[in-house]
Amino acid sequence: MYLPKVRELKEAITALIRGPYTHPFPKEPTPVPDNLRAAPRYYEDFCIGCGACAEVCPAGAITVEDIKTENKFIRRLTCDYGNCIFCGECQLNCTTDKGIQLTPEYELSYFEHSEALEIIEHELVICEICGEVVAPKSQLLHLYEKLGTVAFSNPTIYLTRMHEFNILPEGSRRDDRKIDRWDMVRITCPSCRRDVLLKEEWG
Ligand code: SF4
Ligand code: SF4
Repeated sequence: MYLPKVRELKEAITALIRGPYTHPFPKEPTPVPDNLRAAPRYYEDFCIGCGACAEVCPAGAITVEDIKTENKFIRRLTCDYGNCIFCGECQLNCTTDKGIQLTPEYELSYFEHSEALEIIEHELVICEICGEVVAPKSQLLHLYEKLGTVAFSNPTIYLTRMHEFNILPEGSRRDDRKIDRWDMVRITCPSCRRDVLLKEEWG
């Protein structure tokens, strides 16, 4: 009994002089290893809104919604940290490699559920014939850059780019839905593009 008490006393004095061995969490965040993979974050400069990360997420933590606001259509991607298991599949399979990246941020306790949501929004391009969603504008612009001159074989892609340059005026939505030759040079969804091509070929 005597010896252990001396050892404990020595340890107590050492602790008083050197300070505690443990980290002062939650007063200060505990230092983490450099390669720790925790909460994923979207990066606006690289994310194109394609939704591939949601497709591969094994936990169903990412949702994709196409929403009509007052004057435009947007795609909203939401990553819910309440469901995320930090597996890294979203980052691994991201179309641009950098649109979503896991960060070392591991401390994820919030008062409100809304604080546990990582959200990014993209403007959507709409079919000028039927009004259906074609794709996020940033995804079409990304394709334009990737394809180079080949992009000019797809009017939806090159017209989206031309509108960015303000070279061509943006087309207006049609009410009559009657297809004619002029629709060859419109932004269209795949279904309307098919109808336009069939009309051109077969009349
Ligand atoms: S670019 Fe990457 S992060 Fe953005 S929606 Fe596509 S897969 Fe997800
Ligand atoms: S880290 Fe894994 S679970 Fe979390 S959002 Fe990405 S794919 Fe889904």
